[in-house]
Amino acid sequence: MREEGLISRAQNTWCPGCGNFAIQHAFKNAILELGSEGLSLDEVVLVTGIGCHAKMADYFNLNSVYAIHGRAVPAAAGLKIADPNLKVICCVGDGDAYAEGLDHLLFAAKRNMDMTIIVHNNRVYGLTTGQYTPTSPLGFRGKSTPTGTAEPPFNPIALMLNAGASFVARGYTRRQDQLRWMIKEAIMHRGLSFIDVLQICATFFDPHEVYDRMVYEPEGHDRSSIESAMRLASEWDYNSESRIPIGLFFQGERPVFEDRFRGVRPDIPSRENKIGMFLEGRR
Ligand code: SF4
Repeated sequence: MREEGLISRAQNTWCPGCGNFAIQHAFKNAILELGSEGLSLDEVVLVTGIGCHAKMADYFNLNSVYAIHGRAVPAAAGLKIADPNLKVICCVGDGDAYAEGLDHLLFAAKRNMDMTIIVHNNRVYGLTTGQYTPTSPLGFRGKSTPTGTAEPPFNPIALMLNAGASFVARGYTRRQDQLRWMIKEAIMHRGLSFIDVLQICATFFDPHEVYDRMVYEPEGHDRSSIESAMRLASEWDYNSESRIPIGLFFQGERPVFEDRFRGVRPDIPSRENKIGMFLEGRR
């Protein structure tokens, strides 16, 4: 497939300068490369939540599902259980995945569902005009907190490592080559792949000067070591102005939920059997 075929004709309504454009660009190139390497795009399903990020479903000519707020991950899990051959990719927002959808996110990691979760983390609710999210810095002033928040952010990288995700990474929209590479690797990884992507909201929260100064790619990091990944994850708490490591923190092998589930529920028909049953019913 070529680029013109992958990008839809839907009118793009993101604000000028929005970080979502950069994620869309990296995602598009990752999908195009995987397509040229043999991945059937008929097998790809893009699932989004609710928020500015969710327009990804409109802007790509891919099988897609608009889930409700915070529920992209369980919708994706249902698709994956029904048809384990699918490559299911969730694009979700930080408010979407880390607030309303946090329990689903953690359980997807605990189960090691074979899917990819890309978090468009601009650390603010952009679509609803600038309220704080679980990764906004302490003291963030927005529509719902005009005098500043009184709670620190949490660290989603550490959370997902602890919850059992078998692929955990952090990207930055202004490091395109690395981001494209990580999205490709995440999609091809068997197990729960999680990428927290730092992006700006050009209208309500734009820390790009801090990110440009602070992000770095660690050298010599052992990606197979969960202890090493946890140490790296603790270098930045999503609050202070300290160095921000980006890249693939951890990749390991664990049994995936779909296989275990079919082990205890052999009565659920495979896709081939379901197609056979469907055709049988039409005769
Ligand atoms: Fe992007 Fe922020 Fe505008 Fe939403 S409000 S489209 S996140 S710049």
